[in-house]
Amino acid sequence: MEFCSKTMTLNNADSISFLTYNSLSEIKFINHAFTTRLGGVSTGEFTSMNMAFNRGDDPENVTRNYKRFCKSAGFDYDSLVASAQDHHTFVRCVTSADKGVGIYKPRDMESVDALITNEKGVTLVTYYADCTPLFFVDTKQKAIGLAHAGWRGTVGRIGEKVIKKMTEHFGTDPSDVVCAIGPAISKCCYEVDLPCAENFLNLSGVDPNKFVFSKHNGKYMIDLLEANRQILCAAGVNPNNITLSDVCTNCNSDLLWSHRATKGHRGTMSAFMCLI
Ligand SMILES: [Zn+2]
Repeated sequence: MEFCSKTMTLNNADSISFLTYNSLSEIKFINHAFTTRLGGVSTGEFTSMNMAFNRGDDPENVTRNYKRFCKSAGFDYDSLVASAQDHHTFVRCVTSADKGVGIYKPRDMESVDALITNEKGVTLVTYYADCTPLFFVDTKQKAIGLAHAGWRGTVGRIGEKVIKKMTEHFGTDPSDVVCAIGPAISKCCYEVDLPCAENFLNLSGVDPNKFVFSKHNGKYMIDLLEANRQILCAAGVNPNNITLSDVCTNCNSDLLWSHRATKGHRGTMSAFMCLI
C-alpha cells in the first residue's frame, strides 16, 4: 500500500500501522497517534483494527485491538479515557479519576465530543470514520485536547469551544496552542446538499468561499479541514501552528475507515494523545 503525505508519517510496528503528525512528534512532552484499519484482530466488516465497542463488533476483539495498539504505539492501556460522541459540542476536562471510562469501565458521561486534560498519564481517546479529528497541544501550560468535528461539530465551532475550555481550566493562551486537523473525508469527496451547505455559508468570522464549493448539480463540496482551520484561527490560534492532513479517508479507504466508502459497514478509528 502506497502512503504519501507531507504532514504525517505511517508507522509500522509489530504489524500494527498507525499515523502520527510530524509537527506533533516534535513536541517531546506528548505522545499521539491515529489508528488505521490495519493490524487488529476484528473480522468481517470490522477487519481488522476496529476501536468501536458500539457498532456490533465482538467486545473481546475490540479490547484486544486496544491492547495491541497501545503496546505498539507506546500508550498505557490502563490510562485510556474515551469520549461519548453524539455530534454535539460539549467539552469535558478529564483526570486520572476517569481512567478506563468508555474502555474497560462503563461510560459515565453522555454527549462528550471533546476531551481535555493537563494531567500526565491520562490518555484521551476519540473516534472517527470520515469526521474530522482536532488535536490541541498547549505548549506553554502543557495541556492537551482532542475533538470530534463532523459537519455538525464543525458548524457548532467545537474547535473554538475546546480553546475556550482550555483557557478556562488551564489558563491557555490560544497563541501557544499547536493544532493538527484530520485525517477526514476531504474536499475531493465530501459532497453535501444545500441545507447542510447553508450551515457552513452562515458561519461568521471566517471565509466560506474557501471551504464551500458550489457544483452544477445543486450539490456542494465542503472542505471540513479548511473550515476547522479558519475557526481555530478565529479563536486566536496562530495559522503557522496548524497542520492539516493531506490524506482523505474516502480516497484511502483501504488504509482508513470511511463511513461513505463502506456505506456504513465499517469499524472506527481512534485518535490518542497523552502528556508524558
Ligand atoms: Zn477524497
